[in-house]
Amino acid sequence: MTEEKQIFIVEDNEKNMELFKAVLGTIPNLNILTSITGKEGLQSIASNNIDVIILDIQLPDMSGIDICKEIRKLEKYKKTPIMAVTSFAMKGDKERILNSGFNDYISKPLQIKEFRELVIKYLE
Ligand SMILES: [Mg+2]
Repeated sequence: MTEEKQIFIVEDNEKNMELFKAVLGTIPNLNILTSITGKEGLQSIASNNIDVIILDIQLPDMSGIDICKEIRKLEKYKKTPIMAVTSFAMKGDKERILNSGFNDYISKPLQIKEFRELVIKYLE
């Protein structure tokens, strides 16, 4: 990518956050903004112009699903790619997530190569 882009990650697990930053840090011209809580993340996303958003589903203060619904209420984020990250592996969860306004779904443990490629696809 030649144009500078912004990605926002909301993830409360320190190890996962480190992994996200390490993987996404290899993508040129990408600024990585983060939050470990939903409320702070939501405020920060609302006051910035983010190109791709990654939301952990299980957070201590609010769920990624609720954050996604709030983001979608904002005019500038109607079409922004939002990806869910979750360790839920139960049947039906993927559908529930995709019906909540997410564009895509990533399972933990993270498949690094696939994850990186998916993010690049949404950044383009
Ligand atoms: Mg979590």
